Amino acid sequence: MPAPTALPIWKIHTDILRTLQGGNRLVLVAPTGSGKTTQVPQMLLDAGVAGDKMIVVLQPRRVAARTVAARVASERGGKLGAEVGYQIRFDDHTSVGTRICFVTEGILLRWLQDDRSLSKIGAVVFDEFHERNLLSDVALALVKDLQQSQRPDLVMLVMSATLDAEPVAAYLNQCPILVSEGQSFPVEVGYLPVPDQRPFTVQAAEAVERILYEGEPGDILVFMPGRGEINGTLDALRGLRTQERVACIPLHGELEPQEQDRAFAPNSLRKVIVATNVAETSITIDGIRHVVDSGVARVARYDAERGIGTLLLEPISRASADQRKGRAGRTAPGTCHRLWTSIGHQTREERNTPEIQRSDLAEVVLLLHSLGIQEAATFDWLDKPDPQAVVRAEKLLTMLGALHEGRAELTPVGRQMLRLPMHPRYSRMVIEASQRGCVPDAALCAALVSGRDLLARLDRDDAQMKGLREMFEDSGDSDFITLMRAYDFAKENGFSFERCRSHGINAQVARQVEQTCQQILHAAQQQRLYDRDGGTTAKGDEALLRCLMAGFVDQLAKRRVPGKPECDLTEQRQGQLVRESVVQEAAFFVAGICLIRKTSVWPR
Ligand code: ADP
Ligand code: MG
Repeated sequence: MPAPTALPIWKIHTDILRTLQGGNRLVLVAPTGSGKTTQVPQMLLDAGVAGDKMIVVLQPRRVAARTVAARVASERGGKLGAEVGYQIRFDDHTSVGTRICFVTEGILLRWLQDDRSLSKIGAVVFDEFHERNLLSDVALALVKDLQQSQRPDLVMLVMSATLDAEPVAAYLNQCPILVSEGQSFPVEVGYLPVPDQRPFTVQAAEAVERILYEGEPGDILVFMPGRGEINGTLDALRGLRTQERVACIPLHGELEPQEQDRAFAPNSLRKVIVATNVAETSITIDGIRHVVDSGVARVARYDAERGIGTLLLEPISRASADQRKGRAGRTAPGTCHRLWTSIGHQTREERNTPEIQRSDLAEVVLLLHSLGIQEAATFDWLDKPDPQAVVRAEKLLTMLGALHEGRAELTPVGRQMLRLPMHPRYSRMVIEASQRGCVPDAALCAALVSGRDLLARLDRDDAQMKGLREMFEDSGDSDFITLMRAYDFAKENGFSFERCRSHGINAQVARQVEQTCQQILHAAQQQRLYDRDGGTTAKGDEALLRCLMAGFVDQLAKRRVPGKPECDLTEQRQGQLVRESVVQEAAFFVAGICLIRKTSVWPR
């Protein structure tokens, strides 16, 4: 391994330090792999830029925070969690002596709630800023505000591989910009000649097969939107007919740390790494010469039908596609195989839209109110959110009982909600459950709605599956109860893939639900909303239904005609209960899960 000081970023080492010793802001643009994330925090530490305070590096992704912290700790010859540490939701590897700390944005925002002046922090590095996550925009605005008021000594450094630096520098009162060119090699790009309707997991496996067949050396990186598609691709790769043996390795945020490390570890076989867009710019795996790009990613959007933030599968922008391509040309010329046509490429967006302009703002608006910022729409943002989205968020928070009606101030329940790291709907449910003694059930429901669908959609004529499904439908009160029974079934069967599939249950989702539920319970316990050792008594469904109503109070529906699916919702919306619902009788109900189809616009 070459010495880290050979990385391109070291060429502008003096400029970086000079700028930050003379001023308190800098925007730094350098290509992926130049050493921004691993080297710059060390430069700041060694030059004493943060004094005796901590350097915090914000990372949009948990996998990146963890792996990069481990890398930097090992470069400095220390143990992870000592001088160099990381903290992500539910996982804290820091100690009193930690000087460089990699954290996800949510963590910094929590620290801000506990200590408004961030008194132990000397520098905040906003890494991967081009991703323009909602929380990184929020963090940037709040830290800027803090720096201009109480903490002029606080250093702010914004880093990115592809950032359009000018607007950010302008936002930071025309702060200096440093650009490092780095080095890269040409990458030959191939498109599909015509659109291919088959699953992209299968197409990707075929592209890998072609690369292997052509015999060009080098590891292969495949981009997929998420865990399900990654596993699908790995399955398809197992069916390949190739001479060469390869090591197929998944990489995404839900793997255990040791499994994540496999992607970085040297391998005697050629590696085929199938990753989410964590490998787009956040982390660098050496040795990649070929990229296969599905061209899609899961993107956070506000789902007006469900009244909730959700992840949608969407085409990536041209800027993202170029970053992915660049991963093949870091150390030698490479190839990039795009699973879309060159005409399709032209119709893609040029850049990603900042998340603040497209996503659910309820959690952020709650946070801002807790910090005394009541005018979220006109706050000093880099890009302003849609004022309607702010109104919608405030309305929801008021209905959930987190804000005082008309006063835009946090209620005691709002303060409690703030302490739970989840969407306000779910924190409201958990708080309600703590009063009604059914926290485990409410946590399970929150876990069931916050991820992908546990139950497969049934075909109209799938009578056999319908029969099996009825096993879970032992209550006409709520579809949540059906989901809970299905989950219990999966758990009792050890999340067996076969057993689950035969009943139309997605075993992977069930496993994820288990994890999320445990995390919610852990958070509830920390906030003394629940005592794991206190013993539980069966509370019956009534208590749980009350909690669901508390969390989805804005989704109250009234059936128009008894027995018919058409209904009126709050805010003059209309909808239709899906036919799979077990709730066939109730005149009033709460549309918590994806039960409503066809809705009019909200708000009007
Ligand atoms: P940037 O942030 O500019 O994209 P990084 O600081 O992440 O660059 O990476 C710089 C170099 O450090 C990479 O090119 C790679 O060679 C090496 N590196 C980074 N992380 C790891 C890791 N976890 N394991 C091995 N090498 C790594
Ligand atoms: Mg980086």
